[in-house]
Amino acid sequence: MTGRLSGKTAIVTGAGSGIGRATAIRFAQEGASVVAAGLPEGLDETVEFCREAGVRAVAAVADVSQATSGEAILEAALGISSCANVLVNNVGIAGTTAAYDTTDEEFDRVFDVNLKSVLRVSRPFLQLCRSQSAPASIVNISSVQGILGFPNNASYAATKAGMIGLTRQMANDCARFNVRVNVVAPGIIDTPRTEERLRDSPAFRKLSVQSTPLGRPGRADEVAAACLFLASDDASFITGQILAVDGGASATVFRS
Ligand code: NAP
Repeated sequence: MTGRLSGKTAIVTGAGSGIGRATAIRFAQEGASVVAAGLPEGLDETVEFCREAGVRAVAAVADVSQATSGEAILEAALGISSCANVLVNNVGIAGTTAAYDTTDEEFDRVFDVNLKSVLRVSRPFLQLCRSQSAPASIVNISSVQGILGFPNNASYAATKAGMIGLTRQMANDCARFNVRVNVVAPGIIDTPRTEERLRDSPAFRKLSVQSTPLGRPGRADEVAAACLFLASDDASFITGQILAVDGGASATVFRS
């Protein structure tokens, strides 16, 4: 590893599992102090993995659907560092229904956790950024379902599309504070959320793999690598963009 985040402090939400954990660990390996934020399950283990890389790391237990979660997460960051430079808004939950069956309750719940949380967690981070002279970067984890349709996931797709719009808006609003804001849009990734269906449902695996030109699900560390790029100074002139990490899924209509 090359220390691409040395001297920086990074917050990753949903860091107890999957893409969030892989991103927190990769950032630690690149020299960042890490705040692993999210629901308690798996957080301490992620922190341990980060510390093995020789950096400071702390868990911030926070449900991002709660009003003051952003402040609590930032407070944890300021407990290990005087600054915060990177935020990855990674928490996401799935919807389960087609558009015609989606209730207001389901939509509100998914909207709150997936989209409103981005503002909720970013707001205090951005207030700190305004008072810091150092550049900063936010990476929002959307999905190819924010770009393309997929059956039975209406509320999820709506929030992931909303995330792309919100990111472009944030990029415009925050450039004046030298804060870049980008989106990573994963395709099918093998994580604890998907592993059971990928393993036990041949139909799901076939559908996922068939729609992916590279012919396999992605790995969490492959998404983490994209987050690292956007978070680091390597992407210093990139803001308001979507980086799909999807094996080509969003570049294809039909595969023979
Ligand atoms: P995951 O393994 O389910 O991890 C999500 C993490 O977020 C878990 O640690 C979960 O805690 C936590 N979390 C859930 N609700 C929360 C809340 N209200 N407050 C705080 N933390 C919460 O999911 P993943 O597959 O790594 O997905 C990560 C992100 O990538 C999501 O935004 C997802 O939509 C996106 N994505 C994933 C895929 C894929 O194929 N895996 C594809 C496209 C996009 P618990 O485990 O305790 O619930």
